[in-house]
Amino acid sequence: MKPYIGVLALQGGVSEHVDMLKAVGCDTVEVRRPEDLNGIAGLVMPGGESTALIKLLVRWNLVAPIRTLAGTGIPIWGTCAGSILLSSEISEREHRVDQPSLELAPVRADRNSFGRQVASFQEDLIIKGLEEPFPGVFIRAPLLFPLSNSSEILSSVSEGVVFVKCGNIWLSSFHPELTDDTRVHAMFIRDAVIGS
Ligand code: GLN
Repeated sequence: MKPYIGVLALQGGVSEHVDMLKAVGCDTVEVRRPEDLNGIAGLVMPGGESTALIKLLVRWNLVAPIRTLAGTGIPIWGTCAGSILLSSEISEREHRVDQPSLELAPVRADRNSFGRQVASFQEDLIIKGLEEPFPGVFIRAPLLFPLSNSSEILSSVSEGVVFVKCGNIWLSSFHPELTDDTRVHAMFIRDAVIGS
């Protein structure tokens, strides 16, 4: 049976994730309502704008169901704004901001953290578990500051951490769905399959 994976579809890079997940052999569901979460083996939360996304999560009554789902141990992966939504603390240029989040990973996400280029850049990343470098696409990306020693850092750049796994919660500040390289999606799916 194909792994059945949800993609949060409130805003942002939804179709790109759906295409990647299909390319690695998954069935997918676009998640807009709590019932869309039924039966999924993993959830992907795309990038977009985290302030808009958290408002939409609240409006569509998705906060509690996603927290419950996380408690069951299925893998949940946030890319860019998605990683901000999963973090326990949010800051912007090192100043704490009062922005609500799902608080599912002990991480401080520092929004729009890369000063070296205003909008976006690409950099080859060394990712734990992948043999060859991965093309990291960053768009007004956060830096991730793990707040617990139990977090597993999967990739860093010179500025800091860009990919971290906290138990079943995955956070990447870059966008694998905007490349044609399916290896990070395949990594995530391996966890979803083992967990189900
Ligand atoms: N800068 C956006 C935010 O803070 C994230 C950008 C993205 O997801 N590409 O929400």
